[in-house]
Amino acid sequence: MEERTIFHKIRDKEIPASIVYEDDEVLAFKDIHPKAATHLLFIPKHFVPSIADLTPATAHIPGMLILKAQKFAEQKGIRGYKLTFHVGAGGGQEVFYLHLHFLSEEQL
Ligand code: 5GP
Repeated sequence: MEERTIFHKIRDKEIPASIVYEDDEVLAFKDIHPKAATHLLFIPKHFVPSIADLTPATAHIPGMLILKAQKFAEQKGIRGYKLTFHVGAGGGQEVFYLHLHFLSEEQL
């Protein structure tokens, strides 16, 4: 059985989060310790622990998350932002449920 992270519990609505976007493939919510005026996390509904665990079957997920973030920014009128993946403990990853950081100095 897979180890359930805090993001599994947010995805499954077992613990609260400030959700800003959701569809069948992704969930986006505010980071609890924001490092920019707007700091969001985009997670896939399908669990993958890390970029380091991608396989040919899951390689589309990062691109899908980036496209969702791009569409979200466009809809909200956010023109400049940074997108980051932390990979592995050495890359600063603390939660082992793949997520895309979305940071902007523009307010949501
Ligand atoms: P990582 O370093 O793994 O790439 O980033 C994990 C991020 O998740 C951190 O920026 C941290 O602030 C955020 N985070 C950790 N626990 C929670 C939580 O319970 N709720 C929310 N909304 N964000 C969290």
